[in-house]
Amino acid sequence: MGTINLNSPITFADPLPEATDVVVIGAGVIGVSTALFLAEQGLRVLVCEKGRVAGEQSSRNWGWVRQQGRDADELPIMMESRRIWQGLAARIGEDPGYREQGVMYLAENEAELAEISQWLGVARAHDLDTRLLGRLEIEALIDGRPGQWLGATLTASDGRAEPWLAVPALARGAQRLGAVIREDCAVRALDLSAGRVSGVVTEHGRVTARAVLVAAGAWSSLLLRNHGIRLPQLTVRATVARTAPGPLVFAGNAADEKLAFRRREDGGYTLALSDFNEHFVGPDSVRYLKPFIQSLRASWTHTTLRPSSPPGYPDGWRTARSWSEDERSPFEAMRVLNPTPNSAAVTRMVERLAQRLPALAGIAVIESWAGMIDVMPDVVPVMDRIPGRDGLWIATGFSGHGFGIGPAAGRIMADLIQGQDAGHDLSRFRFSRFTEGCKLRLGPSL
Ligand SMILES: Cc1cc2nc3c(=O)[nH]c(=O)nc-3n(C[C@H](O)[C@H](O)[C@H](O)COP(=O)(O)OP(=O)(O)OC[C@H]3O[C@@H](n4cnc5c(N)ncnc54)[C@H](O)[C@@H]3O)c2cc1C
Repeated sequence: MGTINLNSPITFADPLPEATDVVVIGAGVIGVSTALFLAEQGLRVLVCEKGRVAGEQSSRNWGWVRQQGRDADELPIMMESRRIWQGLAARIGEDPGYREQGVMYLAENEAELAEISQWLGVARAHDLDTRLLGRLEIEALIDGRPGQWLGATLTASDGRAEPWLAVPALARGAQRLGAVIREDCAVRALDLSAGRVSGVVTEHGRVTARAVLVAAGAWSSLLLRNHGIRLPQLTVRATVARTAPGPLVFAGNAADEKLAFRRREDGGYTLALSDFNEHFVGPDSVRYLKPFIQSLRASWTHTTLRPSSPPGYPDGWRTARSWSEDERSPFEAMRVLNPTPNSAAVTRMVERLAQRLPALAGIAVIESWAGMIDVMPDVVPVMDRIPGRDGLWIATGFSGHGFGIGPAAGRIMADLIQGQDAGHDLSRFRFSRFTEGCKLRLGPSL
């Protein structure tokens, strides 16, 4: 299985409690990881998911668990996450498909090599095993077209997991420890009064809680906007494909400027274009143009603008921006955000694959899918409390790299919610950075 089956039956159907300690909104990798750590620490936790566990980004991603190329402030968190991934099978009693076969960034010419090499200083500063490879070393690892790549950076301690296996497995792990997980359960509104949160209003009724975490991925901004809280967040469509099982030309995860590929557990390859995303223009594109202008400039060669956000999308032109708690919300209208993959992009992937890895020329693509990536203006997430609303927390905007870091982000949010030290400097990820008027420091691209 490459991605979610939209017709899959509900598998998490725990009864809704009247009260709990913490409500987590959204059962992607961030929400379920937080629930796992809260439950491990004996807290009562409810995860509300409007559609299916890992129905959106968390089952649709490439599956890379990568330290390489990370923003320097994210790297220590990602290094912790790697340690969690290593022990995850034992921790949850199921195999999430985690394997350490390295991540490699490939360069076709001197300019690209100079660019990817810049990150080696960050790796060295954190004692990471990233190293530079020459042509012959690459060709010993990848059975590709001779001379295709000039050089590469390789982080052998990087890995991958199978997203669609891993995130439901994390959810079951949390459930076994007592977390309550409920699919088809949209949170319509937060219960906010007198400057604090006292629970949520779901489509199935009210639940009181002393803390609420918004881990709603691409829907986080819309959910908060209904309460007058501004979160500049946009989305881009990214298309992915998987092939039938084929010859073993490379065991790990690699990308050059144009193609990303990795060997899957089932013997096929997951493919994506590394130079192509699409942004559907909606009201938020206009509303948040100013905070996003810097990252738009940096990524415009890779981002194609489409004139109109489709109906029902978080930033659709006709999507309601405000509603009352007894009304059907936009979250129930779109249980699973399932964008159509771009077929021209899939064709290009296959062409580029054949050019780079001739042994895979003609291999069948057996599935393609797309996901809407939630992006922040500086391409790094928000992990914080929401100022002025006691008990309200947020972990969102992981900007195309939240799967690998998800377990550590969950551990951090669980500790923060309990008033404990996060163990990392989180100032870069503060909620207030978009309203402080200072220039944002852009993280590496998606
Ligand atoms: C094509 C693609 C490739 C990627 N590749 C990688 C990669 O290789 N490595 C990597 O680290 N990251 C990758 N990412 C990014 C990664 O998938 C995301 O950063 C991560 O999954 C985000 O997790 P999340 O829990 O924040 O959001 P999501 O997985 O989107 O989960 C949010 C959940 O909240 C639910 N929800 C929303 N609103 C409500 C509501 N009101 N009530 C109840 N539920 C609600 C949604 O239905 C959804 O299930 C990729 C993403 C895509 C799309």
